[in-house]
Amino acid sequence: MQYYSTNGKAPHASLEKAVVKGLAEDRGLYMPERICQLPKTFFDNMPTMTFQEIAFNVACAFFGEDVDQDALKDLVYDTLQFDCPIVKVKDNIYALELFHGPTLAFKDVGARFMARLLQYFLRMGNGANAGNNKPKNTINVLVATSGDTGSAVANGFLGVEGIHVYVLYPKGKVSPIQECQFTTLGKNITAVEVDGVFDDCQALVKSAFMDSDLNEHMKLTSANSINVARFLPQAFYYFNAIARLMETSNDGLRTVMCVPSGNFGNICAALFGHAMGMPVSRFIAANNANDIFYNYLQTGQYNPKPSVQTLANAMDVGDPSNFARIINLYSKNGKLSAEETHHSITSLISGATYSDEQIKETMRQCHEETGYILDPHGACGYQALADSLRPGETGIFCETAHPAKFKEKVDEILGIDTPIPERLAAFMRGKKQSVAMTKEFADFKSYLMSR
Ligand SMILES: *Cc1c(COP(=O)(O)O)cnc(C)c1O
Repeated sequence: MQYYSTNGKAPHASLEKAVVKGLAEDRGLYMPERICQLPKTFFDNMPTMTFQEIAFNVACAFFGEDVDQDALKDLVYDTLQFDCPIVKVKDNIYALELFHGPTLAFKDVGARFMARLLQYFLRMGNGANAGNNKPKNTINVLVATSGDTGSAVANGFLGVEGIHVYVLYPKGKVSPIQECQFTTLGKNITAVEVDGVFDDCQALVKSAFMDSDLNEHMKLTSANSINVARFLPQAFYYFNAIARLMETSNDGLRTVMCVPSGNFGNICAALFGHAMGMPVSRFIAANNANDIFYNYLQTGQYNPKPSVQTLANAMDVGDPSNFARIINLYSKNGKLSAEETHHSITSLISGATYSDEQIKETMRQCHEETGYILDPHGACGYQALADSLRPGETGIFCETAHPAKFKEKVDEILGIDTPIPERLAAFMRGKKQSVAMTKEFADFKSYLMSR
């Protein structure tokens, strides 16, 4: 399968190139040239299939031409060694719990899948000169994080041969729970503690990608949700959610899928699922106070602006990177006008935006009424369904993070002591190791050049 750029000015790329490069030469995002419809028999059989079986079918539709069947199956089964259940919260509202992975984040799936796919391509490429795997062939993943992405990527890539990961994070600005998830791993993971803020970390990574000496010296790539191998596998979650819902009830439900969104990678994967025939009648993109997409839905105008800090900080994004993919999908790769595109988007997707005060109120109300503990991100999703579900509809919202990951906030808002799952506690017992770094690019560059 070939991948084209949303900016339309770069040559088409193979899957391998799209995954290794991340971004196209014209700074556009890669899109698969075809989205395969899945057959009716697949949808009929879904309720009897496991998460892994469902995901393998979906993965074949995207990657089947480029990855050997057995390897792909191995890759999917290795990635999905955990569950993604739907939990009834109340009446017709279900939580799709995406936090049962190794770092309790939904990003675990894309991170692990991307790591294994890169490894697959490395092995294929090294076939001719096996045993001659010089460090120069090592792929170096640079990732800037304000918390969640770093831990998912670090754990996804941990122990994967031929790949080294550098996680850049702002000193003192990451919660202790998050920090220990990427600073205690060792092996092929290096945590770089930058004396600055998140934007400084991101600037260092961007400068590194553009620096010709560095690119000459080492192979660099990124691992954020602009990468097709990071965001597409998230479609697995949504097919599984529908399957599990069909399992519990089969009365021709009209299903509404609600996704708390920041960079819009996760909802984009859900929309790809819809394009493959997944039975969902409409979608909601739930935002915190960063309401750029919400405003686009209301006005047809896309006006990115600096992000504002909120309780749901993984969604503090002022210029969602996957917006370009959504536009490309519904404009049929630029064939429709801006107005037609806006119309087709608003007929499928609606929006919602919530302030920190509203998020807190939702968390309290939901806990009091149902006993369910929402994290601040999931709270936006839950509230958007509560505000807009119509009779005859069933709503599923993504609970994108385990509440214990935001323990300080959740405990304070709900007045409880959120239990810490053993998997998280294990990280906290590890020994922290990191490289201290200034925010000056010259320092970061000379560090990398010495590696
Ligand atoms: C990353 C993240 C989001 C936002 O997902 P996008 O794919 O960037 O829209 C929402 N909630 C949590 C907890 C996250 O970590």
